[in-house]
Amino acid sequence: MKFAYFIPTRIIFGSGKLNDLHKQVLPGKKALIVTSAGQSVKVNGYLDRLTAQLDKAGVSHVLFDKILPNPVKDHVMEGAAAAREHGCDFVIGLGGGSPIDSAKSIAVMATNDGDYWDYVGGGSGGGKPILNDPLPIVAITTTAGTGTEADQWTVITKTETNEKIGFGYDKTFPTLAVVDPELMLTVPPALTAYQGFDALFHSAEGYIATKASPLGDMMSLESIRLVGKSLAAAVQDGSNLQAREDIAWANTLAGMVEAVSSCISQHAMEHPLSGYHPEVAHGAGLIMICEAYFAHIAQKHGADEKMVNMAKALGKSNAKHPMDFVAALRDLMQACDVDTLTMSDYGITREELPHLAQAARDTMGGLFTVDPCEVSLQDEIRIYEESYR
Ligand SMILES: [Zn+2]
Repeated sequence: MKFAYFIPTRIIFGSGKLNDLHKQVLPGKKALIVTSAGQSVKVNGYLDRLTAQLDKAGVSHVLFDKILPNPVKDHVMEGAAAAREHGCDFVIGLGGGSPIDSAKSIAVMATNDGDYWDYVGGGSGGGKPILNDPLPIVAITTTAGTGTEADQWTVITKTETNEKIGFGYDKTFPTLAVVDPELMLTVPPALTAYQGFDALFHSAEGYIATKASPLGDMMSLESIRLVGKSLAAAVQDGSNLQAREDIAWANTLAGMVEAVSSCISQHAMEHPLSGYHPEVAHGAGLIMICEAYFAHIAQKHGADEKMVNMAKALGKSNAKHPMDFVAALRDLMQACDVDTLTMSDYGITREELPHLAQAARDTMGGLFTVDPCEVSLQDEIRIYEESYR
């Protein structure tokens, strides 16, 4: 048994916990609040509640509210310039994965020169070492999907090249994360489902990756169990706080899994779908390809025992065969009303599938190196084609 464990984030979890933010030791005196260009954090009062907490704590703040659902590099650079201009000494990401990921990347560029893509490791990124520590990062999550509040990862798209690439290191873990399931009661049903499936796949992929570890395995199976127990309930009745709590915890656990293990090539294959077609939500892209993807792992006997364990955790108590996990995914998709998503509805064409398959390797090639069995370029194309409707 060999593994390493490093998750340095203080996580404050529980309904109503945003109201306790002023009691926490905050990592600075002037915050750049990074949030989405959408209205939800404003109309639901979350932004006002955050600024009231900061006022109470004697922390001043500047708002940067331009982040798109698939966040882009230009806004990272613009946010970093705002942080410098206003002399902010820490960054708060408020919202879903997109604002929190952007907050991490902004924190890096607020203290380092050049362009964000100079430091990104995949695709056309320069892979330069980061000379200066980022500003401290606080994550306040209003959705349950990316787990970014509990890991070091941030995913940003370079619009000019449609490259959507993950990036992160020890210093991009948030110092403080608030996970308050009450803030998730307003997430609409479809987004609840997309994000819940994203969390599920962080756990599932981390569980069967060659980087899996005993601690990560415990977190993965509990996270998968909670998604199986409560995701459909949260989708069907968004005001069900018990279900929201279960999924919030499943998601934070899934983030921890990403920190101690790794996603595998299913995530690499999703990134070009939403990179080239930004209207595809990340979780929706994963849902479109998951059955064919995990059927491939089953056929190759990449993780037989673990796939049976995952099927059982999702609720198929009599599971015996790896394909039972694929059947469990289908059942959950139906229960969450996301079994009819199609690539063609989003304008993805059959002709571009080989190009997307190559793009997955070019931008996120590292994930293919931790797959439990080989996923070749030809396999990728076949998985996309089997998924295409
Ligand atoms: Zn994801």
